[in-house]
Amino acid sequence: MNIAAQPNDIRDVIEADRANVWHHLTQHKPFETVDPRIFVEGKGMRVWDATGKEYLDALSGGVWTVNVGFGRTSIADAVRDQLVQLNYFANSAGSIAGAKFAQKLISKMPGMSRVYYSNSGSEANEKVFKMVRQMAHRHHGGKKYKILYRERDYHGTTIAALAAAGQQQRREQYGPMPPGFVEVPHCLEYRSQYGEIDNYGERAAEAIEEVILREGPDTIGLLCLEPVTAGGGVIVPPKGYWEKVQEICRKYDILLHIDEVVCGVGRTGLWFGYQNYGIEPDFVTMAKGVASGYAAISCTVTTEKVFEMFKDDADDPMSYFRDISTFGGCVAGPAAALENMRIIEDEGLLDNTLAMGKRLVGNLEALMERHAVIGDVRGAGLFCGAELVADRKTKEPVAEKLVQAVVADCAAQGVIIGATNRSLPGLNNTLCLAPALIAKETDIDGITEAIGKALTKVFG
Ligand code: PMP
Repeated sequence: MNIAAQPNDIRDVIEADRANVWHHLTQHKPFETVDPRIFVEGKGMRVWDATGKEYLDALSGGVWTVNVGFGRTSIADAVRDQLVQLNYFANSAGSIAGAKFAQKLISKMPGMSRVYYSNSGSEANEKVFKMVRQMAHRHHGGKKYKILYRERDYHGTTIAALAAAGQQQRREQYGPMPPGFVEVPHCLEYRSQYGEIDNYGERAAEAIEEVILREGPDTIGLLCLEPVTAGGGVIVPPKGYWEKVQEICRKYDILLHIDEVVCGVGRTGLWFGYQNYGIEPDFVTMAKGVASGYAAISCTVTTEKVFEMFKDDADDPMSYFRDISTFGGCVAGPAAALENMRIIEDEGLLDNTLAMGKRLVGNLEALMERHAVIGDVRGAGLFCGAELVADRKTKEPVAEKLVQAVVADCAAQGVIIGATNRSLPGLNNTLCLAPALIAKETDIDGITEAIGKALTKVFG
């Protein structure tokens, strides 16, 4: 791509950005002396910035979103056609694309039956919290209102979603948090809280039960978990964990909510992360990969059993779910999502994800042999983490600035990777990788080659 040939004056754009845009999750002080990075174009797994520099994007649009890659004209066509036919109507009425996508989605989610549309992951999760609170009021005499979330998990940026964030540094400046949210311990075996034990998975799940008993089972309505923790360190739950979690939820009549905002729609090589573990959730939320960022859409999916609890009856006309999301009625969302799913199916991207994910983990393990700074490699499909430690025995995390130096060096080499980002005190030491599901062997090898070079440069 030749940016110099573009008609718009890119200098003006950079200055307009510097003067008027407030970037997400960004310290702006450096922009007083360096230019903000502006991306101009994307194709497949590659993006180009305003200087014309090309990057191999190992993060699917920076935050594991663009699952089918950039520049998909068939999705753009589907969105355009939909916008011309009907761009919007409040979702208290239905739409053709909304009905078709819901049907298609449910066909991939045995046991689930209803899709509630909104437009961000945070919002999709808050819908669940609201449903649970409404069920507590209507069906449990005001009990069962508490929401359990797990240390190191993240569920969104709005205040109630933040109240369910197990990432202390994300929430510490935004209190007070709303009440009724209770943390359970993480399940990262590499940093076991229980010493070296054979049954870590089961033990980590039992820790949830201990919190339930402490709080009182009749106060707890929901357990909200990521299937594989994303920004909290790419944590693949240990063997035996999910079976026990499901058992505990059933034992205490607690609904299980799986936050698939990152893992959903192919990231781990199955349609949904939870399907790796044979669990049967009551709620599943998803956002990023649903339409790969071609339109804003998120979904809160639940069972017929839950849905039935919101049906009107003569005695209680206020029993329906008293919630609306204006842009949950944008029909471009489901139109893009339908085409996104078709691409994943027709191009065999789930199988590709499994194969390329294996290669990515294999390459990272090979790097581990050459670089003592890699303490642990974790992965599920095209979703991998490499934890950097100063000492493999003590597992002391390397300083965050060194992790950021690795990320910066990869970017200088033209490869975009990520890291746990100022969310966990002392533990922002995991490199994160989530390439698009279309990745080829050469892409995977290019990513890990850049990481290897960066590790040599930063750590010797
Ligand atoms: N859940 C998880 C697991 C996430 O990673 C995120 C975003 N990173 C969210 C929820 C919130 O999604 P959104 O930014 O679309 O509100």
